[in-house]
Amino acid sequence: METILFLTHTEADGSLGRAALESLTAAKQLTEALGGSSLVAGLLGSQTEAAVGQLAGVGASRILAVTDEQLAQPRYATDAAAATAICQAAQATAVIAPATSRFNRVLPGVSHRLGGAVDTHVSQLGVSDGTIEVTRWFYRQRLRGRLKRAQRPWILLIDPGCYAAWSGEPGTGAAEAVSSPADLAAPRTQVTGIKAPAADAQTIRPDADLLFVTGAGWTKKQADGQTHVPDAEKLILNFLNATRASLGSSKSLVDLGGEGQAVLSFLTHLNQIGQTGATPRHPKGLATCCHGEEPHTVGWRFVNERRVINTDGTCGWARGKADVLYVADAFAVMKKVNELLAS
Ligand SMILES: Cc1cc2nc3c(=O)[nH]c(=O)nc-3n(C[C@H](O)[C@H](O)[C@H](O)COP(=O)(O)OP(=O)(O)OC[C@H]3O[C@@H](n4cnc5c(N)ncnc54)[C@H](O)[C@@H]3O)c2cc1C
Repeated sequence: METILFLTHTEADGSLGRAALESLTAAKQLTEALGGSSLVAGLLGSQTEAAVGQLAGVGASRILAVTDEQLAQPRYATDAAAATAICQAAQATAVIAPATSRFNRVLPGVSHRLGGAVDTHVSQLGVSDGTIEVTRWFYRQRLRGRLKRAQRPWILLIDPGCYAAWSGEPGTGAAEAVSSPADLAAPRTQVTGIKAPAADAQTIRPDADLLFVTGAGWTKKQADGQTHVPDAEKLILNFLNATRASLGSSKSLVDLGGEGQAVLSFLTHLNQIGQTGATPRHPKGLATCCHGEEPHTVGWRFVNERRVINTDGTCGWARGKADVLYVADAFAVMKKVNELLAS
């Protein structure tokens, strides 16, 4: 029998974000699967009221909250102190939390303070032989592992995109206030601002329906013996602006920048998909001017429908790695696609 704590930070407006609602589904399903266990919800933030309302129908036996102005800022010391206080108040044996950048940074430290254990990048929770069993991927998503631990409390960070977001009827209610730990009173660190790219320059969009991947072919000499990098930039940006797709890249293309060659100015290594890059979860993907080598396509593991535009009908994608391969010039195809999107 476990006391399962769904633990999350709230958004700036006090509500639960999508990753939080997904891990709430995971926590609820786990509680139901583990007969005789109870679900407790724990919130931390400068505002928590809206989140309490969202939790109304979830069936939590208690809702605990540390509500403190200092928690408006994602800061290790204050987040860790508040999360530890909630785990202790709940007497949690298992803690299910969203793997947001804020919590990925903080909860391993919380587990150390509690003398517990932590696992990150969890993709599934289950029950085996009456105890919790978690699933996660290893070695760049090539090996799937299932693990159990005897140590408690066990903190589990659920990767976004693995569960449907909880969507129960909102209601009203009140949380039990957990008193703010002393560490919150006078933090030594202040967040003085956030430096982020302009909305249009932010090309990585994990929630997008489509992943649009660019390969090194966009910068190579074309049929006329010339490169056309400025044209490529325009075609790609117009497509991204029209579709709000997320932009991925092959390693070769992002590496070219480091070699001082002409590349697409808006790409960084953060866009890289593959064995040494990211493994995003999008329903659809379109690869352009990319050869489809195994170290790249392994990053497409969770993309459900894959389409490719390549002038080479014998490229790597043709070997069972894509659902549809258009043997065509990506410059011509994307020009036409953009015209259709504009009309
Ligand atoms: C240990 C290791 C880790 C690696 N990790 C990664 C990784 O994480 N991600 C990754 O991407 N790679 C990775 N690689 C590199 C990978 O093996 C490939 O070298 C890389 O993916 C190739 O990039 P590309 O397909 O863009 O370039 P290229 O192989 O140069 O392919 C360019 C393609 O563009 C096509 N093309 C050209 N012009 C046009 C046009 N007008 N229209 C349509 N098609 C056109 C060409 O036919 C060609 O197929 C790794 C390699 C190693 C050894």
